[in-house]
Amino acid sequence: MKGADELPQWWSSTAAWRLLSCPLSAVPANEPARPSAQVLGNAGSVAHLALQQWIENGEWTREDPGMRLQGRFDEIVASHGIDISRMPQAVITRARLKSRGRELSAILAEAEPGIRTELLLTDEGNHLFGILDVAAGGAEGLIIDLKTGRDASAEPSPAIKHQMTFYAHLFQVTFGVPPKHVIVFNLQQGPAEIEVSPSAITNLLGDILTAQSMGRALARPQPDVCRFCTKRMTCEPHWKAVAAWDPPDAIEGTIVSIERSSSGLVAVSIDGHWLTGIVGSQLPDDARPGQFARAVRVRRRSDGTAPPEWAASSITEIRVLPAP
Ligand code: SF4
Repeated sequence: MKGADELPQWWSSTAAWRLLSCPLSAVPANEPARPSAQVLGNAGSVAHLALQQWIENGEWTREDPGMRLQGRFDEIVASHGIDISRMPQAVITRARLKSRGRELSAILAEAEPGIRTELLLTDEGNHLFGILDVAAGGAEGLIIDLKTGRDASAEPSPAIKHQMTFYAHLFQVTFGVPPKHVIVFNLQQGPAEIEVSPSAITNLLGDILTAQSMGRALARPQPDVCRFCTKRMTCEPHWKAVAAWDPPDAIEGTIVSIERSSSGLVAVSIDGHWLTGIVGSQLPDDARPGQFARAVRVRRRSDGTAPPEWAASSITEIRVLPAP
């Protein structure tokens, strides 16, 4: 049996974006596979599954498509026993699905027939792959990516432009022509069509191949790239850089004390800086005064307190580690 290093490496859009942004953070896959199970851990994943079922069952052609899209969301929530009052963004995502259903339906009507969802496309020659939310081949070929969460800003970010250009490349490899329409459907802002030229696709492919040939040892700490990087906790180049970011979103140091409130929230003093609003399950069981700890995706309060205080949120991660 081959070891992990000997297996062919496959690059998703996200892995390729990381390779171009900070090579050290890039983690290619061993094969172009879908996630093994449908994980419905947030409102975005429920919305994506609702969209998939709504399209595959032809419900987008109904008289009131938004109502049915919201109904799909509700059915998934009920069948998985999800309490949407405890799932961040679930209530607003549900409402937006209803209000955006008709716009989505109008876009799909332009693309009929042959609309596919969760479509796995590959470029076998270059070992690139991606799973497109919605795709339709043919003369009016289109790809749609649904944005529901933190990446749902008004203007498509460079990361989103990269993603859609990457998908346009996979589409071109599969169908022989680039998609005519490349659409980011943002539940908050509505649809935005992104211009993806043939030269943009060629340039991206060239950049990826060049970056692959240069190896993955280089670290380039940047706030938006590091924020959700899986190597963040132990990446020393990042910890050297983060204090100078404006604003920083991580702290490290020795735990001085831990306070627990009757509501279940926890506050931790790290080198005398209080980090508050921690849900009990976010604090490692082995956290004790005197140990070294790191916390990422925290917010520095701007109330002028000295030393500054910090606030945790649902995306904060805290870990106890050996001191560097
Ligand atoms: S934490 Fe930042 S610098 Fe370190 S590997 Fe990840 S993206 Fe690169």
